[in-house]
Amino acid sequence: MLLNPINFYSPQTVSEALSLYSSLGECRLLAGGTFLLNSLKLLKKKGMKTVPNIISLRKIAELKGITTDPETLTIKSMTSITDLYNSPHLTDNFAILKKVCRNISTNLIRNMATVGGNLTSRYTWTELGAPLIALDTKMHFVGSNTKEEVTVEEFFNKGAKTNNLLTHLSIKRDKKCQLSYQRVKKLSEVDVPLLGACIRSTLTDERFQQTKVVINSGTVFAKRDIILEEFLNKSEIEESIASEALNHLDLSIYDTRSDDYKKSMFRVCIKNAILELVQRRKKL
Ligand SMILES: Cc1cc2nc3c(=O)[nH]c(=O)nc-3n(C[C@H](O)[C@H](O)[C@H](O)COP(=O)(O)OP(=O)(O)OC[C@H]3O[C@@H](n4cnc5c(N)ncnc54)[C@H](O)[C@@H]3O)c2cc1C
Repeated sequence: MLLNPINFYSPQTVSEALSLYSSLGECRLLAGGTFLLNSLKLLKKKGMKTVPNIISLRKIAELKGITTDPETLTIKSMTSITDLYNSPHLTDNFAILKKVCRNISTNLIRNMATVGGNLTSRYTWTELGAPLIALDTKMHFVGSNTKEEVTVEEFFNKGAKTNNLLTHLSIKRDKKCQLSYQRVKKLSEVDVPLLGACIRSTLTDERFQQTKVVINSGTVFAKRDIILEEFLNKSEIEESIASEALNHLDLSIYDTRSDDYKKSMFRVCIKNAILELVQRRKKL
């Protein structure tokens, strides 16, 4: 199905994009297009109105790329999932992103879909949210006269809404923490996730410390399980903790609109994530 007629703008700089964004009124930003174009076609199919203007971010070179220094990893919003996966900068705590990207859909989608689109599309099941919350990631936005910096956690807690342009993400390097990411796919034909779980912890003195447990349930935005975090932070690094931890879940997160299969797969993912961290610690 063809889209309704639109005015298509393709600025080459962020400032050009922002002046179009504030002057055009009814418009949408286009990144990889894997969600937006589909949703415009669906609206048309339902006989609903679609925006008359689209501003493509594809030609804006300053929104692409990944850089690093000893302290920080910077991921520009128009970086594709494939480019993130292939980045040589994914070392230390950043390495978990390689595992997450490898599991996102297919090559075709990964080549087009962007990191910025994955976070700002407002689909609750896209999966970069959980690992990026575990990594304490900050999102950097610009508007015509504003600059805003929020953590991914704050962004999702407030419903993932923005009227600004996401320019980049920044993540602090942490050589001490360990991360595990587990996910279950929803369908055999199209690879979209049913759920995901990311656990980050600093495993020193035989204890879990500064633990973050972030759950992506697919039905609400990624959320931390503070009850499980508190339990783990009081626990010794033993394999038996992986089973015991299942008695310390914040059930309100896992039970939301979950059937028995999903509830049980949450438990499998949590247990596997903890076991992975414990076994990695033992090898160190
Ligand atoms: C078949 C299929 C399978 C998929 N499987 C997975 C999966 O397994 N795991 C997963 O995590 N995701 C999956 N996805 C989602 C995919 O990762 C998203 O489609 C993608 O991340 C959206 O990115 P995009 O660049 O195409 O965004 P677009 O479709 O271009 O835009 C999406 C929304 O984000 C807004 N936006 C984009 N960039 C910015 C920005 N810089 N600033 C402000 N707003 C912005 C746009 O205005 C639009 O509202 C799948 C998608 C499809 C179609």
